[in-house]
Amino acid sequence: MSGSTLGPGERTRVRRVVKKARYDEQVIYEILDQARLCHVAALVNGAAVALPTLHFREGRTVFLHGSPSNEVMKAVLREGEAFVTATLYEGLRLARSGFHSSIAFRSVVVVGAAHEVLDESEKLRVLNLFIDRVLPGRAREVRPLSDKEVRLTMVVAVAIDEASAKISSGPTDDDDEDMALSIWSGTVPARLVFESPIPDVDGAMSSGAVEVPTSVRRLLEQQ
Ligand SMILES: Cc1cc2nc3c(=O)[nH]c(=O)nc-3n(C[C@H](O)[C@H](O)[C@H](O)COP(=O)(O)OP(=O)(O)OC[C@H]3O[C@@H](n4cnc5c(N)ncnc54)[C@H](O)[C@@H]3O)c2cc1C
Repeated sequence: MSGSTLGPGERTRVRRVVKKARYDEQVIYEILDQARLCHVAALVNGAAVALPTLHFREGRTVFLHGSPSNEVMKAVLREGEAFVTATLYEGLRLARSGFHSSIAFRSVVVVGAAHEVLDESEKLRVLNLFIDRVLPGRAREVRPLSDKEVRLTMVVAVAIDEASAKISSGPTDDDDEDMALSIWSGTVPARLVFESPIPDVDGAMSSGAVEVPTSVRRLLEQQ
């Protein structure tokens, strides 16, 4: 695959609504990095199973983590390959007809070789990055991971061997013959919003003296 594109590959060539397809590395990375969760699909006991999970991207690798008994992760490692998809829900695209009404989204499908990260120092580095990718700055605020916690967590690295993005945005695609209809048509943008934090009330938190950390304050300020 050349330069700054990651597709289309054999399994990532968009066939339906091709005008929405993108394969540029930058577009794909942006969606992967903004998505707060992904879905990983695999065959488990002969049946297709897709599960939501957390991810983060570093270079051309997507990292996943989970319990060593997670059936989808185990299947991914058995096959040595992962199918990962991540989606940003960005609003409603309300056409004059139900047929052409849809949602605004940006989504990515990644297909790539997968392996378990076994090197202990690399595993610890990735697990700490997971904490920080979920909430930047949080890894410094929490107590360090224990050896047992590291042992109880499996880390899977998925190479972004090929990937596709699909982007649905802008005005609706109405049929010409529907344009004269007096039916409201337009878009309703949507975004994820974090509300005011609700402090825990147990243990040391019950005193009310533990301040909202920098990581959470920054998250709220930046949205
Ligand atoms: C939030 C959301 C809601 C959707 N709702 C619907 C719906 O209700 N009905 C419907 O038919 N479709 C829906 N889609 C689009 C859907 O994801 C598929 O693109 C579409 O169904 C075409 O499927 P296909 O198997 O024919 O794709 P093909 O174009 O044949 O798929 C071939 C390859 O193209 C790539 N590809 C396909 N879809 C996507 C995608 N969304 N993102 C990135 N790469 C992709 C993959 O690499 C895939 O292997 C939705 C998408 C999103 C993100």
